[in-house]
Amino acid sequence: MNIHEYQAKRLLHSYGAPIAGGVAIYSAEQAEEWAKKMPGPLYVVKSQIHAGGRGKGKFKELGEEAAGGVRLARSVEEVVQHVKDMLGNTLVTKQTGPEGKQVNRLYIEDGADIERELYLSILIDRTVGRPAFVVSTEGGMDIEAVAEETPEKIFTLPIDPLKGMTDADSRKINRALKLTKEAAKDGLELFPILYKAFTEKDMSLLEVNPLIVMKDGRLRVLDAKVSFDGNALFRHEDIMALRDLSEEDDKEIEASKHDLAYVALDGNIGCMVNGAGLAMATMDIIKQYGEEPANFLDVGGGATTEKVTAAFKIITADPKVKGILVNIFGGIMKCDVIAEGVVQAVKDVGLKVPLVVRLEGTNVEKGKQIINDSDVDVIAADDLDDAAQKIVKAIKG
Ligand code: GDP
Ligand code: MG
Repeated sequence: MNIHEYQAKRLLHSYGAPIAGGVAIYSAEQAEEWAKKMPGPLYVVKSQIHAGGRGKGKFKELGEEAAGGVRLARSVEEVVQHVKDMLGNTLVTKQTGPEGKQVNRLYIEDGADIERELYLSILIDRTVGRPAFVVSTEGGMDIEAVAEETPEKIFTLPIDPLKGMTDADSRKINRALKLTKEAAKDGLELFPILYKAFTEKDMSLLEVNPLIVMKDGRLRVLDAKVSFDGNALFRHEDIMALRDLSEEDDKEIEASKHDLAYVALDGNIGCMVNGAGLAMATMDIIKQYGEEPANFLDVGGGATTEKVTAAFKIITADPKVKGILVNIFGGIMKCDVIAEGVVQAVKDVGLKVPLVVRLEGTNVEKGKQIINDSDVDVIAADDLDDAAQKIVKAIKG
């Protein structure tokens, strides 16, 4: 789960990280009211969407000439002007995809005088199985480009989770970021704070880009992007409360209501599979036969007819879906339950695209019988390979 920048900053501030004063607003009136209370003379108006690259982004409605989704202002009037310009419009950045994201709230912040922009993130480094700091002196811009063109400018430091973060670790980061004097002192305080927030709140990513050295030599968190491990959210009610459903895919929200493991993808073959491994294998084989899956969907082991029906409805509601592949290996899951769910769902929502069903395992005969007895138009498949070939052929008409 992702949260907005201002929420991430509030959270990091509660741990003691240096953050500028700021306020989230939803209207021009609110912006004016709050900006008047801010010290000035520099203000920053920042679009709050769950995507990075806002500064270089463009608003669909304003054309290529207009400024981006993060803007500096030098008076209250200018703040209000920017707010009116941005609020309600659609921001397209490198990370939003071409459809962009509507900006429904803005964050107004005390502006900082920047000396240097650095990059800092904490993530789980899977190769060593530890949380790791990834830092670079080349912050502010596209870190992917830095990684590609000048990988020697990126420094990675895994942290021993048993020992926790040590002063020696912080000093290594200071050296990598070329921090001295006040900034280095700030670093010794800040890095353990960020590590504590990362581990205590079960984050999967904490990215500060840029972390800045200000003209007065002090450090400040200027941007913050935080993602949480969805599997740990149950123990963080405070974090759950920050969820912004308007930022999430409608189909994924609906799936989470039914406790389905579903991820929307860009292809055109909808998949309904039980078990994450089998779901991955199904996606792979669809690709191998030259098509792309429209989703990852694991209906799980103990799915009921209602759950299967819900899953089927989510898949068919996606206009990109040109064909559906149901691939069930009945172990704990019983094939007849899946068959009943599919038949029920087709009765409820109709079937406008080809449907290939491959059933194997517990109650397979019963399952096949249910489908045969219904008047649902199904293409039966014998195994995974056969199923993939048949659905690919079917959508090609
Ligand atoms: P992003 O484009 O979505 O990553 O948004 P950021 O919060 O990183 O802001 C983009 C850029 O705007 C930063 O890299 C800075 O160059 C600039 N910026 C943001 N806040 C300030 C500020 O307080 N003062 C100044 N001078 N520039 C800022
Ligand atoms: Mg940034």
